[in-house]
Amino acid sequence: MATAEGLTPDPSPKAKADAPQERRQKPPAPAGALAHRDLKGGEFWREVPAFANVSEEEFLDYKWQMKNSLYGEDKLMELMDGLAPESFIKDAQRGFKLAPMAVRVTPYLLSLIDWENPFDDPIRTQFIPLGSRLTMDHPMLTLDSLHEQADAPVEGLTHRYPDKALFLPLDTCPVYCRFCTRSYAIGVDTDTVEKVKLKVSPKRWEKAFEYIASRPELEDIVISGGDAYNLAFKHIERIGTELLEIDNIRRIRFATKGLAVMPMKILTDERWLDAMTKVAELGRKKHKQVVIHTHFNTPEEITEISQRAMNELFERGIWVRNQSVLQRGVNDDEERMALLVKRLGEINVEPYYVYQHDMVQGVEDLRTSVLRNLTIEKYVRGVTAGFNTPTFVVDAPGGGGKRGVHSYEHYDRDTGISVYTAPSVKPGESFLYYDPLHSLDEEVRKAWMDPAAREAMIADARRSAGV
Ligand SMILES: *Cc1c(COP(=O)(O)O)cnc(C)c1O
Ligand code: SF4
Repeated sequence: MATAEGLTPDPSPKAKADAPQERRQKPPAPAGALAHRDLKGGEFWREVPAFANVSEEEFLDYKWQMKNSLYGEDKLMELMDGLAPESFIKDAQRGFKLAPMAVRVTPYLLSLIDWENPFDDPIRTQFIPLGSRLTMDHPMLTLDSLHEQADAPVEGLTHRYPDKALFLPLDTCPVYCRFCTRSYAIGVDTDTVEKVKLKVSPKRWEKAFEYIASRPELEDIVISGGDAYNLAFKHIERIGTELLEIDNIRRIRFATKGLAVMPMKILTDERWLDAMTKVAELGRKKHKQVVIHTHFNTPEEITEISQRAMNELFERGIWVRNQSVLQRGVNDDEERMALLVKRLGEINVEPYYVYQHDMVQGVEDLRTSVLRNLTIEKYVRGVTAGFNTPTFVVDAPGGGGKRGVHSYEHYDRDTGISVYTAPSVKPGESFLYYDPLHSLDEEVRKAWMDPAAREAMIADARRSAGV
């Protein structure tokens, strides 16, 4: 067999010495290429007048964060008075009246907002609605677009995929995200939406555990909500232990946005962290995975405090993955998404998914087209290690589950309709995702308002997709 050497003529020693200019050397990294390592540190919160006198010890105390989380309109108005531009405050007031989610934000997040220009701030955009930015919902949009309730055999347990299920032990979160997919359940009732209730209830949980034990094909449970941060430490232990005791269960994940919105809990809530560690250790003994799934959306959410929290988890051997949601004005830009991915890697969080924004009521301004998703994916792939490169997915409306965003049967960029199938989840069915109206041409937008034209566009997309 020819060796590598045998394939190329051996150059003389002289030629070798002359060769270096032919060897291509990568040019030095441009300025900004290492921006992922510049994590915000110091006592940045003191720039917000309401937190000017808050010591580091207090700010890192999760109880202080929870107690001082802004809940509802009045407290937020108070905080913004004199801090945010007058025009912004008026705009937010109108936003509150129209939004389907109540507002709840931690002081940590509030102190990361650029109050000089809150209109365009990516953290503001996720939590504080503005009247001027709200736009009309797509006519094909429904609350619970993912049909989580339709796929629920017991209350609070969604069994859609063959080997995994989604368990919702509670319906509260440390914050309320405007874009929440589960706005059908999470948060308090608002002027525009009355919610389904999923209270903390060990009795209800038992029914879920019984169902899980009765289905030998179930191996993987996502414990979501709501948010595992809001589960008492004894409930973390109880849910973790009970699930790990079920023979067929091989993997569990606790889903929490907490790391992104209140990393302090990892640093100062010892009982919670110890409970999580205990469950992870039990998992290791039983050769079962126990992982945390979190939800960072922008590079600005990752600070030195996040890094300290992640170091603590890493030292305890608790693995963390991240799921982001692609959002207009938040992270729908190639370079910002690449920075987020690199920064997650920097603090040992594994980027797992980037979701196409679900079709949720009242947050049309946040959705992007599928095309934007494809473009960003193309850019991000190649920026870093493959195992740190997230998969870009769309959770197919109507219960098709997650699909690689590229895997559409058909995508009409003009009408914004993409058609997906899910052979192993719902064989024979097809699922349509609709780009937001603001990403379409004026004429097509008008067509969507006309029921007959709407039907024709959908029929055309189905025909082209062959479904
Ligand atoms: C997302 C999801 C899961 C977990 O899916 P992965 O792709 O393994 O992360 C399980 N059940 C439901 C209903 C889900 O929406
Ligand atoms: S933390 Fe998650 S479940 Fe809670 S409001 Fe935000 S997106 Fe929804």
